Amino acid sequence: MDAGERTPLSPNTRVVALGRADPTPGEQVGAPLVLTSTYHADGPVNYARGGNPTWSAFEEALGSLEGGDALVLASGMAAVAAALSLVPHGGRVVVPTAAYNGTLVTLADREAAGEVTTTAVDVTDTDAVVAALDGAAMLWVESPTNPLLDVADVAALAAAARERGVLVAVDNTFATPLLQRPLELGADVVVHSVTKYLSGHSDLLLGAVVTGPSEAGRALHERLRRQRQLHGAVAGPMETWLALRGLRTLAIRLERSSANAAELARRLEEHPAVSRVRYPGFGAMVSIEVGAGPHDADAAERVAAATRVWVHSTSLGGVESQIERRRRQPGEPDVVPESLLRLSVGIEDGEDLWRDLDAALRA
Ligand SMILES: *Cc1c(COP(=O)(O)O)cnc(C)c1O
Repeated sequence: MDAGERTPLSPNTRVVALGRADPTPGEQVGAPLVLTSTYHADGPVNYARGGNPTWSAFEEALGSLEGGDALVLASGMAAVAAALSLVPHGGRVVVPTAAYNGTLVTLADREAAGEVTTTAVDVTDTDAVVAALDGAAMLWVESPTNPLLDVADVAALAAAARERGVLVAVDNTFATPLLQRPLELGADVVVHSVTKYLSGHSDLLLGAVVTGPSEAGRALHERLRRQRQLHGAVAGPMETWLALRGLRTLAIRLERSSANAAELARRLEEHPAVSRVRYPGFGAMVSIEVGAGPHDADAAERVAAATRVWVHSTSLGGVESQIERRRRQPGEPDVVPESLLRLSVGIEDGEDLWRDLDAALRA
């Protein structure tokens, strides 16, 4: 389906309508699940490490939502690794002090191996980030950040980076393209853990990178495509098909979970057992601090163990609400308080979520 033919469609429609074949009488309405390793010779793709029609369907939908060209990969970390592969040997990466721990640990390992150097910055401090950009190869942005939910001024940072010839990668997992489109804000590469909101049902791992429509963007796309084919971190068609199926409801899932999160954040501000609420004002992630102080890991663990509707588990972005004390995770940076609980607010009834969390906080 060509969304450009008539009046541009709303993203709420595009999540439903894109990634389908042109209507053909008698043919299926949805995208096909194509399970094959090889294709009959002399077509556009001859082997499945190079392409798959189920990938193409998902990529059409995600690419349109982000305003660029998407490549699906085996996991969010495969997408992070692909984006970081654009940094030349010895290049410096400017990175948030607190961000997804897999990204930080990867960069630390690569730094220890002498492959890159890093400068850690507070992404909310635009001047400090800009001051770190001279001579850097890449600016890595997460916004909102995981799990402190800090918000960066992506447009200002991308403009400063562009002036200095610094590539900008934005991990857009938390916001999704319905709430933030980094390519439009000037980023070069968007990274997704499709595992989270885009697929939305906590039943698969998948990732994606998206690059812009400019000539430079297309050149990055070709580098990343070649890298996917040669490194072989390719997505399973079944996971990709499920992710596209999940993507169909992204707009309504996000609408409900965001409304639940806004109301919960408001009530948690008043809660006697909560010392701090972090909520960026949009999206469905909320982090809270509980107990006697930032080091009170036990208090946070007790809350997470006492919920019944909220699922005590890592990860986020599914239909089910999830709660986790983040410092349980090895590699979580120590600027994250021991007492911080990350809440991924789901689509359940908001009052049920509140009653369950309130009871756990009071227990
Ligand atoms: C989960 C996550 C990743 C890694 O994705 P996987 O699909 O688990 O490999 C990267 N970035 C962010 C922000 C995440 O939340």
